[in-house]
Amino acid sequence: METLYCRFCGQPLPIHLHGNRRHCESGLCYVLNAKARGRDKYAKLKVTLQQFKQSELTLSIGYKMYGNDYIPVNLLDNLGINWTFCNNRMTIEGVEAKVVGSYAYITYKNKTMRIWKIS
Ligand SMILES: [Zn+2]
Repeated sequence: METLYCRFCGQPLPIHLHGNRRHCESGLCYVLNAKARGRDKYAKLKVTLQQFKQSELTLSIGYKMYGNDYIPVNLLDNLGINWTFCNNRMTIEGVEAKVVGSYAYITYKNKTMRIWKIS
């Protein structure tokens, strides 16, 4: 079996620690690992929050300009919307809308969309 080493102190890991673990049992390495994990989580959270804010801001601009009217999807593309972000779904006029914070939107096949302010 291949020898694995602690990612912090470089000591070979005892066989019983193999698995997903990449740090030894020394107190310091344990603490370092916990901190690193916290940082990773924070970094992910920060990215998600930025995507969310960016998407909601873009929708709010579109809504301010056009209200519930049909607008070209590429208008929001140009404003830098992140289409992957959606924190909920709801039904508007019988169609499933994606919700991003205070706004909901539906995109249509002819590359137009409508935005609603929901709160
Ligand atoms: Zn170590």
